[in-house]
Amino acid sequence: MNILLRDPFWRELEARIEAGERLDAATGERLLACRDLHGLAALANRVTERLNGRRATYIVNRYINYSNYCILSCQFCAFARKKRDGDGFELTIEEMVAKAREAVRLGVTELHIVGGLHPSLPYDWYRDLLRALRAVDARLRLKCFTAIEIRHLARIGRRPIRQVLEELRECGLDCLTGGGAEIFNPAVRDRIARGKETAEEWLEVHRTWHQMGGRSTCTMLFGHVETMADRVDHLLRLRALQDETGGFVGFIPLPYQPENNRVPVDHPPGGWDILRTIAVSRLLLDNVRHITAYWVGMGLKLAQVALSHGADDLHGTIQEEHIFRMAGGRAPQLQSREAMIRAIREAGKTPVQRDTFYEPVAEEPGSDGEAQTAVVGGRGTAGAEA
Ligand code: SF4
Repeated sequence: MNILLRDPFWRELEARIEAGERLDAATGERLLACRDLHGLAALANRVTERLNGRRATYIVNRYINYSNYCILSCQFCAFARKKRDGDGFELTIEEMVAKAREAVRLGVTELHIVGGLHPSLPYDWYRDLLRALRAVDARLRLKCFTAIEIRHLARIGRRPIRQVLEELRECGLDCLTGGGAEIFNPAVRDRIARGKETAEEWLEVHRTWHQMGGRSTCTMLFGHVETMADRVDHLLRLRALQDETGGFVGFIPLPYQPENNRVPVDHPPGGWDILRTIAVSRLLLDNVRHITAYWVGMGLKLAQVALSHGADDLHGTIQEEHIFRMAGGRAPQLQSREAMIRAIREAGKTPVQRDTFYEPVAEEPGSDGEAQTAVVGGRGTAGAEA
């Protein structure tokens, strides 16, 4: 207590948070405008530690984009290509399987698979892909497809969303990705992603998946043309769905990358805005247990600092990231397991390898070296360092 706190606003806020009171939109907007990052961080970190102790997680995962051909042309997207462009790509199922086998050899526990809305791949291709990947190793978790890809599959497969999700799950789908949420305000969506699904459609895909017992992550792309009120509105709509279903396992705020697209932004989010947004997300999303500092979008050094601003997860090793990189992201395409463990320890937290659902796989010694290395459950990570 008494971390800051001469200002009555902060004193009252601290008391409300201590009492577990839910914060409203007006408070969220005020916090996103505030200059006291240290105070905000202290409160957000307190909530994080109440939920997750001093543990901070990472996952040994691999990204695979099966194709960047897309029938849409979202203005902010630097990833998508048309067939006529000459620099698009698409992988065969055999190539995807080869990457999956290599990943398993490296100790990867999750494949994260997304792509554009491909103009000609048939519905059955996606089912065959999942079956083939599932056959590589039954323990490999398949975290695949954004909500707009699911809607695309429903369209080309001429099936309801629920049937698509059921059939994909039968073929091996473990978890939906949280991508494509962007910012829910329709006016903002029209400026950055015209033609993409509406907020209601994005939420409905996740609602359906959650009602089937599925789990997913959720995201927010921030720092482009949206207002602070738009960010708060977005967070509260995620919070409302989480109240309804409880199906989000984590929230991943994504700082906007401004290059190679049609949404020029003079001042993309800096370190201050990124940390403040993470902290406010932690305070508003009181029903989502985990907040990820996505190192691909902010660099590992800032992601490490975010661990004391409300985040409790550094995301994964990733190995091969295209989407942020093509939009100007300067972070490398992979992090070693050692680099993530070191970053967490330096931040004064205890590193814990997690699975797709943020459940612990293995715990490493903390910054003080006291925690014992122990396999808590699930797969080990032998060879992940290679
Ligand atoms: S953001 Fe997704 S749907 Fe939009 S153009 Fe890019 S790949 Fe296609």
